[in-house]
Amino acid sequence: ESAVNRIAAGEVIERPASAVKELVENALDAGARRITVDIADGGKTLIRVTDDGHGIAPMQMPLAVSRHATSKIDGSDLTNIHSFGFRGEALASLGAVGRLTLTSRTAGEEATSLTVTGGALGVCKPAALSSGTVMELRDLFYATPARLKFLRTDRAEMQAISDVIKRLAMAEPFVGFTLRDVSADAARVTFRADPQTGDLFDALHGRLATVLGKDFAENALPIDAERDGIGLTGYAALPTYSRGAAVAQFLFVNGRPVRDKLLLGALRGAYHDFLSRDRHPVAALFIDCPPELVDVNVHPAKSEVRFREPGMVRGLIVSALRHALANAGH
Ligand code: ADP
Ligand code: MG
Repeated sequence: ESAVNRIAAGEVIERPASAVKELVENALDAGARRITVDIADGGKTLIRVTDDGHGIAPMQMPLAVSRHATSKIDGSDLTNIHSFGFRGEALASLGAVGRLTLTSRTAGEEATSLTVTGGALGVCKPAALSSGTVMELRDLFYATPARLKFLRTDRAEMQAISDVIKRLAMAEPFVGFTLRDVSADAARVTFRADPQTGDLFDALHGRLATVLGKDFAENALPIDAERDGIGLTGYAALPTYSRGAAVAQFLFVNGRPVRDKLLLGALRGAYHDFLSRDRHPVAALFIDCPPELVDVNVHPAKSEVRFREPGMVRGLIVSALRHALANAGH
């Protein structure tokens, strides 16, 4: 049972950044307004996510770390998912591949704490915490040395973690994010995005300035298009802001960060006439699509999507971006 769990867990949690993604998404699902992520040694020795969300009740703590236990859907309507999580797998997986300690407090209850090591639950203990949740994951993959061996340098893992946080920060501009490297030799804040205010477009613009730079935000072309019930909003950069690497393409489907070949291809296609092959466009685009036209459930660890009408989505992206570029004199 425990070996089976570890294998299943390895598919969901491939590297420290996948653990960070699951923990931060849980914090967002809990309605957090501020999320702090502390990382030591590229996440290999410590990942700690602190949030100010609604917390976990003492009675629910053991359930939260059990496989297929989710408080988020009743299982009857998989097409209409509004929270990030719905499988109830992440905490069980993290507790199987590392030492996971949950400390949490809901309104009106005392704080409690529970540790899971290699899939084995400890006992719930009273803890000191004023509100919200702290999820601490230590010694990731200590029980699966094969997996540990495939991890990259601390620096590369930290970069992947930072990328995950920036994507989620872009998806949730009203939430504040702080990423700290707390390794013994280098304690410092590596990314910080204060909560934005105003309407969504304003908030997104402010967040873009934090993540991609003021210069980008001030010169980005606003995108706002709709076709056959599919909406496309966001910002795209002029070709002059293109980058030498595909690092600044932020795509979201119904509020979830995705990294999808079809969408990336459409983005490239829109800039085809203006960029040489070695340049990559910069954009943050939000696709809003009726849930029955898209499947975001392709693989738990990968952020791919499947559209019922891929051609329609591609057409919308290419035409909206070309239109914006033409208006800007291209
Ligand atoms: P899922 O997110 O798919 O429900 P998880 O394994 O990620 O599954 O989490 C299990 C459950 O633990 C969640 O459904 C939620 O009830 C609870 N939980 C996890 N993280 C938090 C958090 N940061 N704040 C409040 N509740 C949480
Ligand atoms: Mg989850």
